[in-house]
Amino acid sequence: MLVNPSLILGLIHNIALLLATSLLIDLFWSRQEKELQFRNKLLTGVLLGGIGVVLMLTPWVLVPGLVFDTRSILLGIIGLFFGPVPTLIAVLITGAYRIFLGGDGQWMGVAVIVVSGSIGLFWRYFRPGWMNRNRFVELYLLGLAIHIAMLCCTLLLPADTIEHTLKTIALPVLIIYPLGTLLLGLLMLNRSLHWKIKRELYQSEEKFRQLFENSEAIMMLVEPESGLIVDANHATSNFYGYSIDELKSKRILEITTLPPDEASEARRRILEEEQSCFIVQHQLASKEIRTVEIHSSPITFHGNTVLFSIIHDISERKLAEEALIEAKVRAEESDKLKSAFLATMSHELRTPLNAIIGFSSVMDDENDPEEMKQFARIINSSGNHLLSIIESIFDAALLQSGEYKVSETRFNVEELFFTLIDYANVEKIKRNKDHIEVKALIPNGIKPPPVFTDRGKLMQVLTNLLNNSIKYTNQGRIEFGFSVYEKDITFFVTDTGIGIPAHKVEIIFDQFRQGDDNHTRVHDGVGLGLSICREIALLLNGKIWLETTEQEGSTFYFLIPGIVVTENHPDHTVPVHQQPPDLTGKTILIVDDMEENIFLLDRFLASTKASILSAQSGEDAVRKVKENPAIDLVYMDIKMPGMDGYEATIELLKTRPGLIVVAQTAHAVTGVKEKVKESGCFGYISKPIRRDDLYRGLAELFGA
Ligand code: ADP
Repeated sequence: MLVNPSLILGLIHNIALLLATSLLIDLFWSRQEKELQFRNKLLTGVLLGGIGVVLMLTPWVLVPGLVFDTRSILLGIIGLFFGPVPTLIAVLITGAYRIFLGGDGQWMGVAVIVVSGSIGLFWRYFRPGWMNRNRFVELYLLGLAIHIAMLCCTLLLPADTIEHTLKTIALPVLIIYPLGTLLLGLLMLNRSLHWKIKRELYQSEEKFRQLFENSEAIMMLVEPESGLIVDANHATSNFYGYSIDELKSKRILEITTLPPDEASEARRRILEEEQSCFIVQHQLASKEIRTVEIHSSPITFHGNTVLFSIIHDISERKLAEEALIEAKVRAEESDKLKSAFLATMSHELRTPLNAIIGFSSVMDDENDPEEMKQFARIINSSGNHLLSIIESIFDAALLQSGEYKVSETRFNVEELFFTLIDYANVEKIKRNKDHIEVKALIPNGIKPPPVFTDRGKLMQVLTNLLNNSIKYTNQGRIEFGFSVYEKDITFFVTDTGIGIPAHKVEIIFDQFRQGDDNHTRVHDGVGLGLSICREIALLLNGKIWLETTEQEGSTFYFLIPGIVVTENHPDHTVPVHQQPPDLTGKTILIVDDMEENIFLLDRFLASTKASILSAQSGEDAVRKVKENPAIDLVYMDIKMPGMDGYEATIELLKTRPGLIVVAQTAHAVTGVKEKVKESGCFGYISKPIRRDDLYRGLAELFGA
């Protein structure tokens, strides 16, 4: 029999042992996440040497003292995969053990150990790219080389045993051992590739960790499902004002201002790589809100998918951008205004000039005296119109430069009003608006008081306001009047004209600004009248303001303090028909978005001795009523930004059912009265409010 069956069994047993131990090595090796250190190389050598010894414990004994096992395979593979230090140690251990076993095969055994390890090392250093060539062939050739060398080592046996040994082992050694080498080699190769990948992964994670921790950029890792912050670096901790541990116990929802569903949708989009950049707002520990730009993408970290986010604080950039946009809008606006201004001025100056030049040039050819007279009239009125524009421009410039000196005289408001009525009647005719009623409201029994102020300037303001009312009213009526409180007098001019859009109310007092600055505007004027009025108000220490509703009308108020002359009147006030009722112990809340209106009403109500509270918005009014159960009466302005008077009345009546709310309406047009009633108001008082009406109403209300 050529091959002894027990030899085959021994071999299979050996190879099985070899493969099993390779898994052991794997287990040990896989724990080594870094390149082997020298100490570890020694340890590996000892372990591998130990395995060699175990292999040699289950040999196939040819004759006592002559044993065969698979140490050649093991040592060849050790040489190939583990390098010189572990190989040398394994060779020394197994060699020593073989010497310890002794017998005839002792020197052949030691030679096989040395030769196998050396061939393995030889392969490692002289065929370095073997893995990238045909690895099956390479490993098989290695196995063949080792085992041919092994057969050569039989020469070290006693001469009489060489032939018999060769005959017995040659075939299995040349057929099975190279295959065993191939098998173990492939297994080790597979594991070594696995270790390489693991090592690279470890290294890249380590690199990432260092970058992450030492970076100046704000970075965090977020769990995609729950939004839990898995990790954050020092820059993040500095930015948000939480420690890293505090951050790691938070969910992203605790710092983002996004609602939960939007935040989880954002994480889904990052996870599915649909979107990677977001601009959101984050809240810091100090409660400050910052605008941040987040760049986020999914990464695998420690085997889990997490969202890696880099966060840039762009609050300043955002503000700068907004400022830039605002500046651009302003520049565009000023560009638009410039062309509107040029167009208006050009139109306003050319129209009268056109008439003057045109009619004066045809006068020479005209013989009809009537026609001549008419031309002269047109030229004259156009000249006057031109003069008035030029005067406005000078007036505005003079007032603004502060060079105008107030020249005070004593005169009577009644006399002023007669002049104003005459002026209005002429203007109405000039503008073909005879159908509009212009009325001075002088309450019965109230003698308009004498005042001491600059008559010319007061007249200029009132004629400007009246002129505007006539210009911007197409039907209905215009009323003007006054109310007096102690030495203060407030004039008003109210109309049922086109009104002014809310967003234009602020600007119409600026020079050359008009409610309608389109080229298609239908009304004449250069936009200086109200700015002159405001300058005059300042000059006389007064105030000018308005209330307006588009398509309903406007009321302009002009208050001049301390000009009413009272020395002729024993009670130091202008006599009024209605005495102020005594409302001691009562509390009245005035609600109006215009501070000046509150001021005026407050001055009127001062003589009733009631306690006065004020609110400048609907919301504020509702809050004040809740906070002050002592309030007996509310004067509620109807038109306010945000919560209007109707809404505020409904709200505050929920808190205090039965509370008396009196609406203040500037334009009692149809529908308003009904709405006032519907909202639960007790009644209404028309603006501009006149003092005796107010007192009369209060006396009726409180029976005083
Ligand atoms: P203008 O020469 O354009 O009348 P003003 O300075 O007198 O210039 O007024 C500025 C703008 O205010 C007007 O262009 C107009 O849009 C608006 N305005 C002034 N008074 C009234 C009013 N009674 N009714 C409606 N709009 C008015």
